[in-house]
Amino acid sequence: MVWCGTMSSPCIALVGAPNAGKSTLFNRLLGRRKALVHPTPGMTRDVNEAETTWEGRPVRLVDTGGLFPPGDPGLADGVRRSVMEAAAAADVLVMVVDGRAGLTPLDRELAAMFRTTGRPLVLAVNKMDVPGRDEGAAEFHALGFPEVLAISADHDVSIGDLRSAVARHLPEPRPASEAEEAPRAVTLTIGGRPNVGKSSILNRLLNEERSIVSEIPGTTRDTVDSLLRSGERLYRIQDTAGLRRKGRVEVGPEGLSAMVARRHLERADVVLLVVDSLEGITQQDLHVAGLAIEKSRPLIVLLNKSDLVEPEQASALLEQSATRLKFAPHAPVLTVSALTGRGIGRILPMVDEVHEQACRRMTTGRLNAWLRRAVESHRPPSVSGREVKYFYAAQAANNPPRIVLFGNIEGPPHFSYQRYLENSLREAFDLTRTPVLLQYRERPRAARTSTRPRRKGRKSRV
Ligand code: GDP
Repeated sequence: MVWCGTMSSPCIALVGAPNAGKSTLFNRLLGRRKALVHPTPGMTRDVNEAETTWEGRPVRLVDTGGLFPPGDPGLADGVRRSVMEAAAAADVLVMVVDGRAGLTPLDRELAAMFRTTGRPLVLAVNKMDVPGRDEGAAEFHALGFPEVLAISADHDVSIGDLRSAVARHLPEPRPASEAEEAPRAVTLTIGGRPNVGKSSILNRLLNEERSIVSEIPGTTRDTVDSLLRSGERLYRIQDTAGLRRKGRVEVGPEGLSAMVARRHLERADVVLLVVDSLEGITQQDLHVAGLAIEKSRPLIVLLNKSDLVEPEQASALLEQSATRLKFAPHAPVLTVSALTGRGIGRILPMVDEVHEQACRRMTTGRLNAWLRRAVESHRPPSVSGREVKYFYAAQAANNPPRIVLFGNIEGPPHFSYQRYLENSLREAFDLTRTPVLLQYRERPRAARTSTRPRRKGRKSRV
């Protein structure tokens, strides 16, 4: 089984306009001269990522430079989206600007975008290997960030200061005892309306598993989680104290507790949605399920209090669930009873299965073989009379799997073809119980013209 979890090292992203020096800084921070340390497989231009140590702590360093198409100074929608995705996924941002070129409109636009992520940001004014560096950096204070540092990635100037400034914003490390356990734990959140039986299910899980259970500080502030060991596996159940303090945290559309619940949901490896069998799937249940789908979190629906319904009613309920949860066909539905214990033993094995699928990694070779077969047996519909082609596929992320397909058009194909490809992928790789994300990109121009000589005069990217 693959255990990837969501609790990896803190992530520092280098962001900013092309040519500012992100890649040079990336390499400087990694202590090496060459670019492309861990290029995402199959992709020539995308984020570069590397694990490194930062003032004694493991961190993930991400260079977003590849998200900008070469030679294009603007901020196309697709680029904006990818850059924002990368920025929002980071814990700390280092915005790199070109100190020699001075403040540009693109810098202002990017700064405004990054501010909306709410992430701490350190501004690195690069290429300042000249006398009067601090004065040169002064105009960048106009961007409104409190920390502005004049550096030179190329000449190794003030890189130590930059490290310290960023380190101050890294999230607190977890206590040693927990740090040993937590990275391998699968994080679960139990959601649902009041009185559906969430705490009863929690207690059943904790008691039935003959497990070692310990209470640990929660994944969100002021909450308490439970760490549950079952055999070799570890599960972190979020906010168990809140679940027991009745009515405090309910996943629903309103209020502060809903916000906390939403954060739990976002941090969960698997979301367990508890539904009262007597009432069936309600609007509020659909809201939670919708949120899980929106956040690409694997979901398992538990139809609880099954002891209170007759067998015919139970099968009608399963049908109703399938209809109402049409938008989440991959979410398994289990019939359980916290009162009698029925079905409770199936919950954690299902969590393992779902989580294993979500963490699945597929090689570029196998993905490409699948793509060739899928496209051959059902050709993509043409767009405005133009034949649509897909050239290759690569997995860009997991938990859940995110597959990028590179073709000759920008954006996704017709909806029905997207559905066809998704179903075909799910079938080919046994990904029937996890969300999967398919993204469509135009094959980078560089790859298309790679056999031709390079155009003269194109500015090289840093
Ligand atoms: P929560 O608010 O979702 O945490 O719900 P609780 O776990 O506190 O349960 C609410 C009520 O439903 C309590 O009176 C439980 O005893 C009862 N309950 C929970 N699960 C079941 C079940 O499977 N069958 C029956 N009959 N009652 C249940």
